[in-house]
Amino acid sequence: MHVLVVGAGIGGLAAASALRDRGHDVDVVEIKPTMSVYGVGINQPANSLRALRSIGVLDQIQAAGFSYDHSDFYDHLGEHVVHVPSGLGGDVPANTALSRGELHRILGAAAESRDVKVAYGTVVEDVADDGEGVDVTLSDGRRERYDLVAAFDGISSATRRRLVGNEADAVYSGFGVWRVTLPRPDEVTGVRVYQGVGCKVGFIPLSQRTMYMFVVTPDPEGVKHPKATMAATLRARMAGFGGLPGAVRDGLRDDDDYVYSPISDVLLPLPWFRGRVGILGDAAHACAPHMTQGAGMALEDAVVLAECLDGPGSLDERLRAFEARRYPRVRLVQDVSHGILATEMAIDDDNRAAAFAAMREHLPAQSAGVDAALNQPA
Ligand SMILES: Cc1cc2nc3c(=O)[nH]c(=O)nc-3n(C[C@H](O)[C@H](O)[C@H](O)COP(=O)(O)OP(=O)(O)OC[C@H]3O[C@@H](n4cnc5c(N)ncnc54)[C@H](O)[C@@H]3O)c2cc1C
Repeated sequence: MHVLVVGAGIGGLAAASALRDRGHDVDVVEIKPTMSVYGVGINQPANSLRALRSIGVLDQIQAAGFSYDHSDFYDHLGEHVVHVPSGLGGDVPANTALSRGELHRILGAAAESRDVKVAYGTVVEDVADDGEGVDVTLSDGRRERYDLVAAFDGISSATRRRLVGNEADAVYSGFGVWRVTLPRPDEVTGVRVYQGVGCKVGFIPLSQRTMYMFVVTPDPEGVKHPKATMAATLRARMAGFGGLPGAVRDGLRDDDDYVYSPISDVLLPLPWFRGRVGILGDAAHACAPHMTQGAGMALEDAVVLAECLDGPGSLDERLRAFEARRYPRVRLVQDVSHGILATEMAIDDDNRAAAFAAMREHLPAQSAGVDAALNQPA
C-alpha cells in the first residue's frame, strides 16, 4: 500500500518504520520545519519497549536511558508511604526512561534507515477519499494518491478536526504539569512521588547523571507561564515540601529549562478510521501522563496497525480489527491515568492520613492488576 503518515512525532515515526517493514511505501509529512522536541524526559514502560523492540531499536533505547523497576511514594515532607514494585516486563525491562531528544533521534534514524522521507514544514491541505483511494493535496504543492492516510498529528490533530469537527476536542483537566531535567541524586533509582495537598512532585531517573522532575498543580485553562518567572512560580508551588523535593526546589536555577504543559484528555469513540483516513496516537486518545503510557499507546498503535493491515479480509475489516484491538487498551490507560489524577488532587489536610493508609493497603495490588493487563500483548 501507498501510505501517508501525518506527523513525525513518536507514533508517526514508529508507524513509518513498522509499515516499511511490512513492505508498504510510506511518505511522512510534519508541520515543524525541522526535527525538534522539547528537552525533558520520557518514560517507556515495558509495553512501549516491546513496540520499540519490534521496530529494532530496543538496544539503542536501553543504551540511551535508565532502566528501573519500582516506584516509591512519600508524603510532602519525605516520609515514606509505600513501595510499589512494577509488574511490567520480564522479557524487557519494566521501564526505561530517556530524554525525549534521544527517543526522537532514535526513531528518526530508524525511519531514515528504511528510506522513509519526512517532508518537514509540510501539512495536508485537502483530502478527497473516493472509496478506492485518497487524493491528498500537500502544502508543498504535491498532489498524491494514497491507499491510506494514518494521522499521528498529536493532541490538537487537524486530521481529527477534518474528520469529526470539534466533537472530540481535547478536554482540559484543570491541572498542568511542570517538568525540568536535573542532576540525578544517587538515591533516585526508580520513580519517586511526593504527594502534597494540591501539588504532587515526582522524580524519574533518565541516565547515570540526570533525572527529570515533574510537578502537577491546578491551573486555570489557557494559563501561560512566562519563561522569565517560571522558576519563581515553580518554587512557590513547591513551597510546602521538605525532604528531596524541598532540597531540589531550593537548588532550582532561573535559567534551567522548564517546560509547562496542560493536562488534557482526548477520546474519540470508534471508528478512528473514516473510510481510508484515520487518526491514531494522541490525536485519537491523548491521556493524562500519570501512567507514562501516552507514547506507549501511540507506539503500540503504530505496530498493531502494521500487523492488522497484513491480516485477512477487506481493508475495512482490517481497520476495524485494528480499532477493536486498540480501543479497550487505550480506554484502560485513559481511565486509570485520569483516576490517579483525580484521586491525588482530592487529597486535603482532613483526608490525607486516610488516603495514605489506603495507598499502603491497596496501591501495590491495584498497580499489579493494571501492570498484568498491560503486560499482555498489545
Ligand atoms: C506532561 C506530559 C508527560 C508525558 N510523559 C510521558 C511519558 O513519560 N511516557 C509516555 O509514554 N508518554 C508521555 N506523555 C505522552 C506522550 O508525549 C504522547 O502520548 C505522545 O507524544 C503521543 O505521540 P503521537 O505521535 O501521537 O503525538 P506527538 O508525539 O505529539 O506527535 C505529533 C506530531 O505531529 C506533528 N503535527 C501536528 N500537527 C500537524 C499537522 N497538521 N500536519 C503535520 N504534522 C503535524 C507535530 O509537530 C508532532 O511532531 C506525556 C505527555 C505529557 C503532556
